[in-house]
Amino acid sequence: MKFAIISDIHSNLAALQSVLKRAEELKCDDIVCLGDIVGYGPYPNECCKIVQETTKLTVVGNHDHASIGYTDIDYFNKFAKEAIIWTSQVLNENNKEYLKSLPSFLRIENIFCVHASPTTPLEWNYIISLYDAIDNFNSFEEKICFIGHSHVPVAYSYEEIPSYETSEKIQLLDGFRYIINVGSVGQPRDRNPNACFGIYDNDLNLFQLQRVAYDIRATQKAMRNANLPEFLVERLLFGR
Ligand code: ZN
Repeated sequence: MKFAIISDIHSNLAALQSVLKRAEELKCDDIVCLGDIVGYGPYPNECCKIVQETTKLTVVGNHDHASIGYTDIDYFNKFAKEAIIWTSQVLNENNKEYLKSLPSFLRIENIFCVHASPTTPLEWNYIISLYDAIDNFNSFEEKICFIGHSHVPVAYSYEEIPSYETSEKIQLLDGFRYIINVGSVGQPRDRNPNACFGIYDNDLNLFQLQRVAYDIRATQKAMRNANLPEFLVERLLFGR
């Protein structure tokens, strides 16, 4: 089975469409979405509809939760907060119900899927170091835990000697377990502005990161038309 693992779309329609096109070209059997479908970007309704129609394997993210009033917006910085308020005003009822229905984690075959961390899925803690990762390995039993949230792709493995992997292609070893951040479709922050997602092939035991160019200017134009914060508009061009 070949899975496309996507995360942090953030209402960026052009990025989502480019990623789904690549997933189709690569003949993925299924799509897994790790949350933050909305927030920051200009197309929350369109992105919710597409994700809902494309896959049943979706977990909720902190921006999704905040946009339906489930997470306190004081937790966010002022730009994120502004975008969440805008999102909550434009989201239609169907999509609000859809976001409310999403689980906080999923177990699919040998993978555990969560937006932020397997230990406390709804506390939105970040895993951004090997030490954070080590604290989380006991919270799932599967071979791999896929996460998003930080918008920076990275992989950690933990056996006798913990290791840190940054390569874009990882041959997953027998007896090893992994926490893999698949990066962000709609707002990458690793200084590469191209949309980012992962492909996991459980027959070949292979994980591969994908980068896809998309029409950034189109997303920026729509953000300006929606009066979303200029800081959020600008950062898309630089991937940070
Ligand atoms: Zn996010």
